[in-house]
Amino acid sequence: MRRPSPTGRPTGGRPPRPRAEQAEQLGFEGMPERLFVCTPSKLGAYADCPRRYRYSYVDRPAPPKGPPWAHNSLGASVHTALKNWYALAPDRRRPEVLGTLLKGTWVREGYRDDTQERDAFGRALAWLEAYVAGLDPADEPIGVERVVAVKTGVLAFNGRTDRIDSRPGPDGRPELVIVDYKTGRTGLDADDARGSQALALYAYAAERTFRRPCRRVELHHLPTGTVAAHEHTEESLQRQLTRAEETARDIMAAERAVTDGADPDEAFPTTPGPRCGWCDYRRSCPSGAQAPGKDPWAAVERLAEPATGQD
Ligand code: SF4
Repeated sequence: MRRPSPTGRPTGGRPPRPRAEQAEQLGFEGMPERLFVCTPSKLGAYADCPRRYRYSYVDRPAPPKGPPWAHNSLGASVHTALKNWYALAPDRRRPEVLGTLLKGTWVREGYRDDTQERDAFGRALAWLEAYVAGLDPADEPIGVERVVAVKTGVLAFNGRTDRIDSRPGPDGRPELVIVDYKTGRTGLDADDARGSQALALYAYAAERTFRRPCRRVELHHLPTGTVAAHEHTEESLQRQLTRAEETARDIMAAERAVTDGADPDEAFPTTPGPRCGWCDYRRSCPSGAQAPGKDPWAAVERLAEPATGQD
């Protein structure tokens, strides 16, 4: 026979909810807040434009996106080809396989026409050939497209790194290096590597995931074959983490305000600027609709032009 519960209600049927879940829903004072689950792109979207964040992560159904971008297709194709390069046994990592690898992972979306797409393929293959010529096929990274994750008092961060290398540090002991591939038109410098919150968070998370120091972050720009690097310190990583936590708090406050009845347009304001032309939600956004839109292939078209240093 079923025993009555102390409250007099039957104990059968749905099992009781875990304590943590009850506490979160009741919102006891002094209870820790829910962690903000995030990736670098989620934090970056809010930092760039709170409204873009809302369209991407809050509004459901999300507003329709614009058409796919050719430069995203090109970037994804090159990244996957490099991932598959490292998936080969070291003795098969030869330049001749790159054409097959790139063809196998080529994303066709967004190009103006076949001629432009063919030109982009040739360009990407040339970048890859030049890049792998500088790699030792026997070098085995610690991770390729490896997800690293870390929890703090505010964040539950996770992100997919392009590559994590293990190299001897200043004292000869192995240290981790975060490598991020870039395929945009212009080169990058040490300030870009230093200022990248994503790279710093990857380093912070990798150090804790692998329990090995990880201070060096590198941007590998394939079109120019250049590497922009920065050596972080414990303090500089901590500063980037604190900034990420501040962004997370801002996002949670905005989301809470909407739940409590605030106008979503005010909680997530628009920040119009040159990036609106490249925004997936330009057509749905009152500020973006004023900005001239870019053709989906505009960035790839500009790859064919000489860089001026102004862009
Ligand atoms: S169009 Fe501009 S203002 Fe609107 S969401 Fe996109 S980036 Fe923000």
